Amino acid sequence: MQPPEAGRSVVQFRHCGKEVFGFRVPDLCPVCRRPLNFGKLDEAPVSIAPPLSSGHRERCAFLLRPTRGTFLRDYDGNADLHVGITNTYGIVYNYNEQGVHRDEAGWEQSISIPLLQPNMFGLMDQWDKYLEEFSATDAWSPNRYEEHCHNCYTFALTFINYILKTEGKHQLNRDEFTEKFVVPRSRRASKYITLYRAIEEHGFYITDRLNSDTNLS
Ligand SMILES: [Zn+2]
Repeated sequence: MQPPEAGRSVVQFRHCGKEVFGFRVPDLCPVCRRPLNFGKLDEAPVSIAPPLSSGHRERCAFLLRPTRGTFLRDYDGNADLHVGITNTYGIVYNYNEQGVHRDEAGWEQSISIPLLQPNMFGLMDQWDKYLEEFSATDAWSPNRYEEHCHNCYTFALTFINYILKTEGKHQLNRDEFTEKFVVPRSRRASKYITLYRAIEEHGFYITDRLNSDTNLS
Protein backbone atom coordinates (compact mmCIF):
# COMPACT_ATOMS: atom_id res chain seq x y z
CA MET A 1 0.00 0.00 0.00
CA GLN A 2 1.28 3.45 -0.93
CA PRO A 3 1.81 5.58 2.18
CA PRO A 4 -0.23 8.78 2.27
CA GLU A 5 1.66 11.86 1.14
CA ALA A 6 2.09 13.37 4.61
CA GLY A 7 3.32 10.05 6.05
CA ARG A 8 1.66 7.13 7.86
CA SER A 9 -0.27 7.74 11.03
CA VAL A 10 1.38 6.95 14.36
CA VAL A 11 -0.29 5.40 17.41
CA GLN A 12 0.95 5.57 20.98
CA PHE A 13 0.16 3.26 23.89
CA ARG A 14 1.49 2.51 27.35
CA HIS A 15 2.51 -0.88 28.60
CA CYS A 16 4.74 -2.25 31.36
CA GLY A 17 5.93 1.21 32.32
CA LYS A 18 6.89 2.23 28.79
CA GLU A 19 5.52 4.54 26.14
CA VAL A 20 5.37 2.72 22.82
CA PHE A 21 4.92 4.38 19.41
CA GLY A 22 4.22 2.46 16.21
CA PHE A 23 2.29 2.46 12.95
CA ARG A 24 -0.12 -0.11 14.42
CA VAL A 25 -0.99 -1.76 17.73
CA PRO A 26 0.60 -5.25 17.81
CA ASP A 27 -0.89 -8.36 19.45
CA LEU A 28 2.04 -8.65 21.84
CA CYS A 29 3.83 -5.84 23.66
CA PRO A 30 7.19 -5.32 21.91
CA VAL A 31 8.87 -4.84 25.33
CA CYS A 32 7.51 -7.54 27.63
CA ARG A 33 6.04 -9.86 24.97
CA ARG A 34 2.79 -10.27 26.86
CA PRO A 35 -0.54 -9.96 25.02
CA LEU A 36 -1.84 -6.43 24.94
CA ASN A 37 -5.21 -5.94 26.51
CA PHE A 38 -5.89 -2.44 27.56
CA GLY A 39 -7.88 -2.59 30.77
CA LYS A 40 -7.36 0.89 32.06
CA LEU A 41 -8.62 3.83 30.14
CA ASP A 42 -5.34 5.72 30.27
CA GLU A 43 -3.48 2.91 28.58
CA ALA A 44 -5.69 2.71 25.52
CA PRO A 45 -3.86 3.48 22.26
CA VAL A 46 -4.21 7.01 20.95
CA SER A 47 -3.41 8.43 17.54
CA ILE A 48 -0.75 11.09 17.42
CA ALA A 49 -1.85 14.20 15.56
CA PRO A 50 0.87 14.54 12.93
CA PRO A 51 2.69 17.89 12.87
CA LEU A 52 3.05 17.60 9.09
CA SER A 53 0.21 18.00 6.65
CA SER A 54 -0.33 18.50 2.96
CA GLY A 55 0.01 22.23 2.39
CA HIS A 56 -2.21 22.00 -0.67
CA ARG A 57 -5.13 21.18 1.61
CA GLU A 58 -4.52 24.18 3.87
CA ARG A 59 -6.28 27.44 3.09
CA CYS A 60 -4.72 30.80 3.95
CA ALA A 61 -1.75 29.28 5.76
CA PHE A 62 1.97 29.84 6.18
CA LEU A 63 3.93 26.72 5.17
CA LEU A 64 7.44 25.46 5.80
CA ARG A 65 9.21 22.59 4.11
CA PRO A 66 12.83 21.63 3.38
CA THR A 67 14.16 23.41 0.29
CA ARG A 68 15.21 20.01 -1.02
CA GLY A 69 13.57 16.65 -0.30
CA THR A 70 10.97 16.01 2.40
CA PHE A 71 10.87 16.28 6.18
CA LEU A 72 10.29 12.58 6.86
CA ARG A 73 12.86 11.24 4.43
CA ASP A 74 15.58 13.87 4.14
CA TYR A 75 15.48 16.52 6.86
CA ASP A 76 18.48 16.54 9.22
CA GLY A 77 17.58 19.48 11.44
CA ASN A 78 19.98 21.89 9.74
CA ALA A 79 18.94 21.84 6.10
CA ASP A 80 17.56 24.99 4.51
CA LEU A 81 13.84 25.54 4.80
CA HIS A 82 11.62 27.16 2.22
CA VAL A 83 8.38 28.93 3.09
CA GLY A 84 5.22 29.97 1.28
CA ILE A 85 1.63 31.13 1.69
CA THR A 86 -1.43 29.26 0.44
CA ASN A 87 -4.46 30.80 -1.20
CA THR A 88 -7.96 29.45 -0.62
CA TYR A 89 -7.39 26.69 -3.23
CA GLY A 90 -4.19 25.40 -1.62
CA ILE A 91 -1.96 26.94 -4.28
CA VAL A 92 1.33 27.83 -2.61
CA TYR A 93 2.79 31.25 -3.41
CA ASN A 94 6.51 31.33 -2.73
CA TYR A 95 9.48 33.44 -3.73
CA ASN A 96 13.00 32.46 -4.74
CA GLU A 97 15.74 33.63 -7.12
CA GLN A 98 13.44 32.91 -10.06
CA GLY A 99 10.64 35.12 -8.73
CA VAL A 100 7.21 34.15 -7.39
CA HIS A 101 5.98 30.60 -7.93
CA ARG A 102 2.40 29.41 -7.63
CA ASP A 103 2.84 25.72 -6.77
CA GLU A 104 0.05 23.21 -7.16
CA ALA A 105 2.31 20.35 -6.02
CA GLY A 106 5.46 19.83 -3.98
CA TRP A 107 4.26 20.91 -0.51
CA GLU A 108 2.71 17.59 0.51
CA GLN A 109 4.76 17.38 3.74
CA SER A 110 4.66 20.80 5.31
CA ILE A 111 4.50 22.41 8.70
CA SER A 112 1.39 24.56 8.42
CA ILE A 113 0.48 27.63 10.43
CA PRO A 114 -3.07 28.92 9.85
CA LEU A 115 -3.17 32.67 9.32
CA LEU A 116 -6.90 33.26 9.61
CA GLN A 117 -9.30 32.60 12.44
CA PRO A 118 -12.27 30.51 11.30
CA ASN A 119 -14.65 33.48 11.64
CA MET A 120 -12.72 35.84 9.33
CA PHE A 121 -14.90 35.26 6.28
CA GLY A 122 -14.60 38.82 4.95
CA LEU A 123 -10.85 38.57 4.75
CA MET A 124 -10.99 35.09 3.29
CA ASP A 125 -13.12 36.42 0.43
CA GLN A 126 -10.41 38.93 -0.42
CA TRP A 127 -7.42 36.68 0.31
CA ASP A 128 -6.73 35.34 -3.17
CA LYS A 129 -6.99 38.79 -4.72
CA TYR A 130 -4.65 40.30 -2.09
CA LEU A 131 -2.14 37.50 -2.48
CA GLU A 132 -2.14 37.69 -6.26
CA GLU A 133 -1.79 41.49 -6.31
CA PHE A 134 0.93 41.40 -3.68
CA SER A 135 2.87 38.76 -5.62
CA ALA A 136 2.68 40.72 -8.87
CA THR A 137 4.54 43.76 -7.50
CA ASP A 138 8.10 44.59 -8.54
CA ALA A 139 9.39 43.85 -5.04
CA TRP A 140 9.33 40.14 -5.91
CA SER A 141 11.04 40.17 -9.26
CA PRO A 142 13.93 37.69 -9.66
CA ASN A 143 16.60 40.40 -9.72
CA ARG A 144 15.53 41.70 -6.29
CA TYR A 145 16.18 38.34 -4.63
CA GLU A 146 18.92 38.19 -2.02
CA GLU A 147 19.63 34.98 -0.19
CA HIS A 148 19.79 36.48 3.31
CA CYS A 149 17.71 39.65 3.37
CA HIS A 150 15.16 39.49 0.55
CA ASN A 151 14.11 35.88 0.34
CA CYS A 152 11.14 33.50 0.74
CA TYR A 153 10.78 34.55 4.37
CA THR A 154 10.69 38.25 3.50
CA PHE A 155 7.98 37.55 0.96
CA ALA A 156 5.77 35.57 3.37
CA LEU A 157 6.26 37.86 6.34
CA THR A 158 5.68 41.02 4.33
CA PHE A 159 2.40 39.55 3.14
CA ILE A 160 1.41 38.56 6.68
CA ASN A 161 2.14 42.10 7.87
CA TYR A 162 0.18 43.54 4.97
CA ILE A 163 -2.82 41.48 6.13
CA LEU A 164 -2.28 42.44 9.79
CA LYS A 165 -2.18 46.10 8.79
CA THR A 166 -5.39 45.72 6.79
CA GLU A 167 -6.97 44.30 9.94
CA GLY A 168 -5.59 47.14 12.07
CA LYS A 169 -3.41 44.71 14.05
CA HIS A 170 0.10 44.83 15.46
CA GLN A 171 2.69 43.83 12.88
CA LEU A 172 5.33 41.17 13.53
CA ASN A 173 9.03 41.29 12.89
CA ARG A 174 10.85 38.19 11.78
CA ASP A 175 12.09 37.27 15.27
CA GLU A 176 8.65 37.61 16.83
CA PHE A 177 7.04 35.52 14.14
CA THR A 178 9.74 32.86 14.37
CA GLU A 179 9.63 32.64 18.16
CA LYS A 180 5.88 32.65 18.48
CA PHE A 181 4.82 30.46 15.59
CA VAL A 182 7.67 28.71 13.86
CA VAL A 183 9.88 27.47 16.71
CA PRO A 184 7.22 25.55 18.70
CA ARG A 185 5.95 23.77 15.60
CA SER A 186 9.41 23.02 14.27
CA ARG A 187 10.42 21.56 17.61
CA ARG A 188 7.42 19.31 17.68
CA ALA A 189 8.02 18.28 14.05
CA SER A 190 11.65 17.38 14.83
CA LYS A 191 10.58 15.05 17.63
CA TYR A 192 7.99 13.50 15.40
CA ILE A 193 10.48 12.97 12.55
CA THR A 194 12.89 11.28 14.97
CA LEU A 195 10.32 8.83 16.25
CA TYR A 196 8.81 8.27 12.80
CA ARG A 197 12.17 7.20 11.40
CA ALA A 198 12.81 4.97 14.43
CA ILE A 199 9.48 3.24 13.83
CA GLU A 200 10.35 2.75 10.15
CA GLU A 201 13.68 1.25 11.11
CA HIS A 202 12.79 -0.84 14.18
CA GLY A 203 9.03 -1.27 13.98
CA PHE A 204 8.49 0.62 17.26
CA TYR A 205 9.85 3.55 19.20
CA ILE A 206 9.98 2.84 22.94
CA THR A 207 10.68 5.26 25.73
CA ASP A 208 10.21 5.58 29.48
CA ARG A 209 7.05 7.22 30.66
CA LEU A 210 6.92 10.97 31.16
CA ASN A 211 9.97 11.56 29.07
CA SER A 212 9.54 15.17 28.08
CA ASP A 213 11.67 14.70 24.97
CA THR A 214 8.89 12.73 23.37
CA ASN A 215 6.01 14.79 24.65
CA LEU A 216 4.32 15.64 21.39
CA SER A 217 1.56 17.80 22.74
ZN1 LIG B 1 4.68 -4.60 27.95
